[in-house]
Amino acid sequence: MKEKLYVAIDLGGTKIYTVLGNGEGSILAEEIFATKAHDGPQAVLEQLVLSVSALLAKTSYGLNDLQAAGICAAGFFDWQKRLLVHSPNLSGWNNVPLELELTARLGLPVLAENDANAAALGEARLGAGAGSGDLIFVTVSTGIGAGLILGGHIYRGTAGFAGEFGHMVVKSDGYLCGCGRRGCLETVASGTAIARAASTAMQMGRETLLTQLAEENEGKLGAPQVFAAAELGDVLAGEILADASYYLGLGLVNLVNLLNPEIIVVGGGVANAGDKFLQPLREAIADKAIPPAAASCTLRAAKLGMAAGVIGMLCRLAEQN
Ligand SMILES: [Zn+2]
Repeated sequence: MKEKLYVAIDLGGTKIYTVLGNGEGSILAEEIFATKAHDGPQAVLEQLVLSVSALLAKTSYGLNDLQAAGICAAGFFDWQKRLLVHSPNLSGWNNVPLELELTARLGLPVLAENDANAAALGEARLGAGAGSGDLIFVTVSTGIGAGLILGGHIYRGTAGFAGEFGHMVVKSDGYLCGCGRRGCLETVASGTAIARAASTAMQMGRETLLTQLAEENEGKLGAPQVFAAAELGDVLAGEILADASYYLGLGLVNLVNLLNPEIIVVGGGVANAGDKFLQPLREAIADKAIPPAAASCTLRAAKLGMAAGVIGMLCRLAEQN
């Protein structure tokens, strides 16, 4: 029997990652475009089509050889109305019928998902949580997101907006969040929050290695510099990371108590800091979650990196077709 082939696209605010893959979730070819995020939906939809053509041109396959296409995107995807309601990193994307628009352009059935949901499925099927039916994927980078796999399937909630872990309120009088509310986890524990805390402390005149590390990085200060300074024993950087880790740990404890997951997979740029970042989170779960739920939960680093979303979409397509 002929192998079933799919294209899967991860549409992000900075890049469009497009792959050709099979029903086992193996990637056979890939293509990366820089997203024209400020040019509006029509320009980006054209880019998506071009990325598929450029990808197929690298192979001996054409659109006729494909069973279907899958796309995952950052943002709120309304699972009932099939609309990308809003995407914070893509200008002008409001209520875009992403599946319909792509089907019309590619002539293929198209399935869309929120990117964290797709990444969660990828990690649950073929990544750090392979074989688990009760897994939470948490991504910590400029923002904080999550995808829930419950009973073997993506849990979307009633309309598709479940898993917004970054907007769990942990400090009701805290900073204003990108979502318009105050005190979300994302405002205290994301890469952006870590960088802001460092800048604020430096402006207050705290003695720190961060001053030098920022100078070496063209004056820019981000989470990577804070991790580097903490590694060198910098007290301020250590305090900032401990604070972020405290709130992230609280959020995870609440998830463990609510959902009793078997595995929590932590990915995203900030999680690249490795075990130094993950171990305090494991300790928070062990100390603060209800003991039987804590004992049955393992926290691991993500395994699939930037391919998690597209691999999740390949699995999703294969399970549907
Ligand atoms: Zn928020």
